[in-house]
Amino acid sequence: MTTEPNLGPVCPNCGEPWLRPTSLPGRYRCVYCLHRFELRSVCPDCGEHGTIVRMSNSMEMQCNHCGGSLLAES
Ligand SMILES: [Zn+2]
Ligand SMILES: [Zn+2]
Repeated sequence: MTTEPNLGPVCPNCGEPWLRPTSLPGRYRCVYCLHRFELRSVCPDCGEHGTIVRMSNSMEMQCNHCGGSLLAES
């Protein structure tokens, strides 16, 4: 048995898959570079309202419209 890390979403800052949810809803923190991010409900790139992808899977949190990241550094 390998202790396979449960790889999560990729951090927009360092590119490592270590983004983890914090105790605050919609807030994430990269445990690799320790940057904090918040999940935007509106795409910063195209202004489209995103359907927020739940963290049930290791999905990237992307805009359905333009594919841009919905994570903003906070
Ligand atoms: Zn990071
Ligand atoms: Zn967009």
